[in-house]
Amino acid sequence: MSTTTDTDVRNVIIIGSGPAGLTAAIYAARANLEPLMFEGEPSSTSDQPGGQLMLTTDVENFPGFPDGIMGPDLMQNFRAQAERFGTEFITEKVTSIDFSERPFRVEVRGTEYRADSIIISTGARSIWLGLEAEERLVGHGVSSCATCDGFFFRDQHIVVVGGGDSAIEEATFLTKFAAKVTIVHRRDELRASKIMQDRAFANPKIEFLWNHTVVDLLGTEKLEGAIVRDVNTGETSTLDVTGLFVAIGHKPNTDLFSDVLDMDATGYLVTRGGSTATNIEGVFACGDVQDHTYRQAITAAGSGCMAAIDAERWLEANVHTAASATTA
Ligand code: NAP
Repeated sequence: MSTTTDTDVRNVIIIGSGPAGLTAAIYAARANLEPLMFEGEPSSTSDQPGGQLMLTTDVENFPGFPDGIMGPDLMQNFRAQAERFGTEFITEKVTSIDFSERPFRVEVRGTEYRADSIIISTGARSIWLGLEAEERLVGHGVSSCATCDGFFFRDQHIVVVGGGDSAIEEATFLTKFAAKVTIVHRRDELRASKIMQDRAFANPKIEFLWNHTVVDLLGTEKLEGAIVRDVNTGETSTLDVTGLFVAIGHKPNTDLFSDVLDMDATGYLVTRGGSTATNIEGVFACGDVQDHTYRQAITAAGSGCMAAIDAERWLEANVHTAASATTA
C-alpha cells in the first residue's frame, strides 16, 4: 500500500485516549499546541477509544463525583473537555512509528503524520488464560468484559477467574444478571482491596472455589462447561457453567515500541524519575503503559497532565525557540 504524507507538522501527537491521553490532550490544547490524538479503533475490545474505563461500570473513587459515575460517561466527559479546547481526534489505531528522524513519523493505515513530540498513552489490556478453547469460545460464552457482555448471561451460572479487584468487580457486576457467580482463584486468599472483598463475601450470589485453576473449556460453538483443577491435589472436576469471565490482570500495549523505547521486564515503558520523559528526547509516556504500580484513572490522568507539561516545555526549549532563532 502506498503511503501519503499529511502536510502539517504537528506540535504533538497523542496516542491513546484513556484518562492519561485525554488529560494530556486537555492540557496540550489549552497550551495552544493543537494536539492530534489517535484514539484507537471502536471495534476493538482491548484498546477501544476511552481505554479500560469503557469496560467498567460504577467508578466510585474518581474525585469530584461524590455519587460515583459510570466509566463510559466519565470518559465521554474527558473527551468533550479535550475537544472543547481544540484537540483533533482520529478514530484509528497507529500502525507504526518512526522515531529515527525528526519530525517523528506516525503511520496510520497508509497515511503518515509528522510531529515534533509524541505522547504515548496506549494503556494496558486484559490477559487471557492462554487455553486453546478460550480463543475458540471468546464471544460465545467467554469474555473479559462483564460490562460489555454481562447482559447476555441472565439467570445463568458464570465463572469469574482471578482474585484481584477486577475479578471481584466483574463478579459483583455479573450478579445483576446471573443466577450464580463462582469465583475461581488459584490461591486461598484474594488480592483485591478489603472493601471489594467484603462486598463479594456479603453477596449471596457469589461463591468461591479456592485453590483451583481453569484448565480447559467444554463446548464447540458455545461454552458448555469449565474443567478446573485443584492445585493441591491435582484432581480435576467440571463446573456446569455457560459463561466464563477472565479477570487475571493486564499487559501494557507497547508492541509498537519494541526495541526502540526502554521497557522493563514485563513490557511497561520506563520513564525518567519524576517526569514522563522516555529514553528518546521529545517522546513522553503516561498512564498505565508506564505504570504497573498504581494503575488508577486518577493517577493516569495526573501523569497525562505531567506529559503535556513536559512536552510543552521540551517543545519550547528545543523546537519553538530554535525555530524563532532561525527566523529572527
Ligand atoms: P491484579 O491485581 O494483578 O490481579 C490479578 C489476579 O489474577 C490475581 O489474583 C492473580 O492471582 C490472578 N492470576 C494472574 N494470572 C493468573 C493465571 N494465569 N491463572 C489464574 N489466576 C491468575 O489485576 P486486576 O485485578 O486486573 O487489577 C489491576 C489493577 O487495577 C490493581 O491495581 C487494582 O487495584 C486496579 N483495579 C481497581 C478497581 C477499582 O478500584 N474499582 C477495579 C479493577 C482494577 P494471585 O493473587 O495468586 O497473583
